Amino acid sequence: MIRLFVAISVPEMLRQRLSGLRGQIPGARWVRPENLHLTLRFLGDVDEDAADDLDAALSRITAPRLQVALSGVGHFASRGQVRGLWAGVEPNDALEHLQTKVEITVQRAGMAPIGRRFHPHVTLARCNDTRVSRIDGFLAEHSGFRAPPFPVDAIDLYSSTLGREGAYYTREATYPLPD
Ligand code: ATP
Ligand code: MG
Repeated sequence: MIRLFVAISVPEMLRQRLSGLRGQIPGARWVRPENLHLTLRFLGDVDEDAADDLDAALSRITAPRLQVALSGVGHFASRGQVRGLWAGVEPNDALEHLQTKVEITVQRAGMAPIGRRFHPHVTLARCNDTRVSRIDGFLAEHSGFRAPPFPVDAIDLYSSTLGREGAYYTREATYPLPD
């Protein structure tokens, strides 16, 4: 089995900038700079045949190239605890369109529907045991975060290996978007 997800890779310069948002938050595990990405579709553990089918399907995706601008920061929470901190994405119809194409494509390749709305973001940190009140400073400090748009000419298929020190990602395939 291989744990897969489809993502937009974030350019090195922007990953560096995002790394600058790191702060002192108890319980936060900050994503390593090389791992920062924008997930389009988490696929989870799939067997080799399913991975081949996904690769074949994704290689046929056509969607226009686009620009993505990161803007703002936010958090996911459940039961009063912060689960993740993220950088947001400016509203973007082309990105929604691309994600819909990816969703349709992976479903045609046999994946079950994800069953929740796409909420584009770049995860900056995952948190354990962090109360929402502990991130007020982070949210206030970075509410004005905004980065220039970056071009998206391809989407990538990554595998993820969960280790003690966090996940290791490997780019398994790149699917260029047509001109
Ligand atoms: P860790 O799970 O060890 O904290 P990670 O979340 O970076 O590491 P994965 O769990 O393999 O590694 O996730 C890969 C990508 O897919 C990440 O962007 C993650 O946020 C996203 N992801 C993981 N699980 C889901 C899910 N159930 N639904 C949507 N996206 C998910
Ligand atoms: Mg995870």
